[in-house]
Amino acid sequence: MASLQLEDKVVLVTGGNRGIGAAIVALLKELGTKVAYTHRSDSDRQHGALAIPADVTDKAAMEAVAEQVEQKLGPIYGIVANAGINRDNFFPKLTPADWDAVIDTNLKGVYNTLMPVIPKMYERGEGSVVCITSISGERGNIGQTNYAASKAALIGLSKSLAFEAARYGVRVNSVAPGFIETDMLKSVSGKVKERIVSEIPFRRFGKPEEVAWAVAFLLSPIASSYITGTVVRVNGAHHT
Ligand code: NDP
Repeated sequence: MASLQLEDKVVLVTGGNRGIGAAIVALLKELGTKVAYTHRSDSDRQHGALAIPADVTDKAAMEAVAEQVEQKLGPIYGIVANAGINRDNFFPKLTPADWDAVIDTNLKGVYNTLMPVIPKMYERGEGSVVCITSISGERGNIGQTNYAASKAALIGLSKSLAFEAARYGVRVNSVAPGFIETDMLKSVSGKVKERIVSEIPFRRFGKPEEVAWAVAFLLSPIASSYITGTVVRVNGAHHT
């Protein structure tokens, strides 16, 4: 039987306790992957995967996460840089704290996640990295100058790293979800949600599981072996 060949691969997912990250962890477990995930809060913890409390903005903590995963599960084959936040506001009202929190988590947090592992992937000659960016990073969005900037930067990071990493057999891709039903959408008012849905050709929000399948495809050493430096959009045709 055909398989994504992720059985027994070790994959680290950041922010795996809730939303899209939790769906990715759940799917990878079903595919037989050895999954580790980080969580900051204690909400919605998952069973059957190695859960490590860590804040992605803490460089030392993320170094310790990589060490712990490799000690307990083995060499890390895949990373899903999923943890992210939004602090939306119109630009003139955006505080320095809201700017910094979003850039520190969504961009520096990915640097902190990847840095302890990428050199090891190079040495081992294999690896697959998936960064969760956003439709907002490609087309912008009202009230999201900070968030869109962080997500656009993430596309630049993954495309550049893909060029560098190719010679080591390591692939780096991004997934750009459209609007997905998670806690992140809870801050959006009913009226705005209605407007967004009316703009989506599928006339509905996406589900976390629909993002998870795209991530599994990009992690797979067989299904996406010649794919790197791309952005896969999971957005119900809500294109830029
Ligand atoms: P949620 O708010 O449901 O979950 C966010 C996850 O990120 C939680 O697990 C949270 O942990 C974790 N996290 C946040 N900050 C940190 C931090 N500093 N350190 C460690 N973990 C942290 O969001 P989604 O599931 O919707 O979003 C997941 C990713 O998908 C994000 O990168 C988001 O930008 C992106 N995305 C989401 C879209 C959507 O419509 N939902 C659309 C496009 C992209 P904790 O529970 O501890 O807070």
